[in-house]
Amino acid sequence: MNIKQFFKRLFSSSKQKPAFQQSGMQADKSAMMQKMVTMLSNTQDVELTCDEVFALLDQFTELAAQGEDVSQLMPLVQQHLDMCEDCREEYKVLQSIVQGTA
Ligand SMILES: [Zn+2]
Repeated sequence: MNIKQFFKRLFSSSKQKPAFQQSGMQADKSAMMQKMVTMLSNTQDVELTCDEVFALLDQFTELAAQGEDVSQLMPLVQQHLDMCEDCREEYKVLQSIVQGTA
């Protein structure tokens, strides 16, 4: 067979392989992830995400317990706590721990 036929056969057989379908599924998945990331970055524009707030919440709580002006020091965390009930609950828990042990 000539080279054209070879490539044609290679191409058509790879199309029928399940591996090809799998890589197609992965592409769908990452496209969905990208969509979600875009959605998140759209809605959360300047604000922090819950994960970011969780990461800062220890520090935030300790500073607040020390009487620091946390809304000045970490305005984005304060802003998130004002609008996110989940993180506010987490903050309350941390607050009671910090105040309990301090
Ligand atoms: Zn949150």
